[in-house]
Amino acid sequence: MTAPLVTLNDGNAIPQVGFGVFKISPADTERAVATALQVGYRHIDTAAAYGNERETGRAVARSGIPRDQLYLVTKLWNADQGYDSTLQAFDASMHRLGLDYLDLYLIHWPLPQLGKFVDTFTAFAYLRDQGRIRSIGVSNFEPEHLKVLIDATGIVPAVNQIELHPRLPQTELRELHTRLGIATEAWGPLGQGSLVTHPTITAVAEGRGRTPAQVLIRWHLQLGNIIIPKSANPTRIASNFDVFDFQLSATEMASISSLEDGTRLGPNPRHFNFTGR
Ligand code: NAD
Repeated sequence: MTAPLVTLNDGNAIPQVGFGVFKISPADTERAVATALQVGYRHIDTAAAYGNERETGRAVARSGIPRDQLYLVTKLWNADQGYDSTLQAFDASMHRLGLDYLDLYLIHWPLPQLGKFVDTFTAFAYLRDQGRIRSIGVSNFEPEHLKVLIDATGIVPAVNQIELHPRLPQTELRELHTRLGIATEAWGPLGQGSLVTHPTITAVAEGRGRTPAQVLIRWHLQLGNIIIPKSANPTRIASNFDVFDFQLSATEMASISSLEDGTRLGPNPRHFNFTGR
């Protein structure tokens, strides 16, 4: 099984389904990433803040999969925003991951009050020009943050990774991304696990003979989102990737979309300003 590819605005291609490792303990990460690579995931999403870059890198190295068949993503933590500190934080992440180039680097949160995301992204562009990163993007950016960034740097981020699930479908932000040429990536695609027991989702899943998580993942794929569902359970890691042989009908899509109620599970990016470690 292989995931479809999405072509980014810089011409690079990203597998549409990746494997997220948020809140997988360092002790469990190597096994979880190894399982994901065995069942066919080629895109892994970590972050300096997750504390498991080293174990992610170890699983990648031991997999024996050629580097050019892998798509590896990490994120710059809030405390490291700023030009020089970004260059240092990038080197530290690459050292932990054991990589000589990265496929995609993301600014984890905008922290508009800090006022450093333009300098941070300027350092990202420098690293891209040096050949150390293939694609540069952002995470949790709201429209006003994207505008400031693009106006100041003249660069449109390749990706914006945002909280997105049926309760928070981010319709306006997705439309803005389409107009600007930014790929939408969904974090918390399963509502951080909360949506797999929702009666609307379980009803669609039963009707299809699929798992609730598979049905949620299909909803994202059919909207065109890049997704990075997380699980530490080998059976779920495999079933979450077994999603390329069925399609939801328009009625099923609408039924899932009816869950929209604006619920945000994570922090509001306009106010989140945590710079601790
Ligand atoms: P998610 O929506 O992927 O949900 C994960 C949870 O869903 C798991 O912990 C598990 O409890 C449950 N689950 C997974 N598969 C299941 C299955 N088949 N059946 C039943 N339950 C299942 O939430 P997430 O981990 O928060 O998001 C995915 C990834 O997004 C993260 O691992 C991380 O890489 C990324 N992320 C990024 C940000 C950001 O600020 N950029 C924030 C949060 C997460």
